[in-house]
Amino acid sequence: MIDAPSDRGRAHVRPRSRLFLTAERLVYNPINYRLVLVVDAVGASLFLLIGVWAPGSSIARSLEAAVGFIAWGLLEYAIHRWIGHGPRSIARRGHAYHHSDDTALVAAPVFVVLIGAFGVWAVLSLAIPIGVASLFVFGLYLGYNHYALVHHVLHHHETFAGHIGLHRLDRIHRVHHAQPTVNFGVTSTLWDRVFGTYQTPSNSPPRHSAPRPKRLRYRFRSTFSRTTRSYLTSSSHNPSATSCE
Ligand SMILES: [Zn+2]
Ligand SMILES: [Zn+2]
Repeated sequence: MIDAPSDRGRAHVRPRSRLFLTAERLVYNPINYRLVLVVDAVGASLFLLIGVWAPGSSIARSLEAAVGFIAWGLLEYAIHRWIGHGPRSIARRGHAYHHSDDTALVAAPVFVVLIGAFGVWAVLSLAIPIGVASLFVFGLYLGYNHYALVHHVLHHHETFAGHIGLHRLDRIHRVHHAQPTVNFGVTSTLWDRVFGTYQTPSNSPPRHSAPRPKRLRYRFRSTFSRTTRSYLTSSSHNPSATSCE
């Protein structure tokens, strides 16, 4: 297991707030990883309850939630491409760590997604009825939970992924891990096709039926370990490079 990036080159990095350091530690904490799955499921349910409590027909409610769920697909693509693989930040470091060790339990700090969802809900509620905003955010949050579960299953339960029909998404996501400039969508290929970043997986069998050869897996991991290490080293030895972290 590679050391958490936050532990590297601390002496060369400018001082950070206690909140920032706690947040960064949580990103690599296995308990945080499991806790966010529960907190975000409860969070999505809260928006559903508010939406159902507000007046509206069941067809309208379903449509509002469906629009939110579909909108998540674009957000998933955008966050992964332009934040996970974007400018230097705590999110990019966490994502680079996931690429270097695809079984590491890396997740956003607990409550971050919930707070973000409440932020979106609050802004939307200024312009549209609270019930509509709640169901839209519920759909969005449901999409996020769907993404988190699918991504977890792809990396931690490959055999199960094959059993529930995720083998194609598994192969597509494996292409992204080998070539991080393509296939940013995890639950769908729609936005990769729209933005021209979709790459069809090769005809190699899915992981659940043919385990990845050990040497290939080693090479894959060592390549990304080197990438992460060089990125972290450049951050820690060049204080100006940490300005956006
Ligand atoms: Zn992944
Ligand atoms: Zn990625």
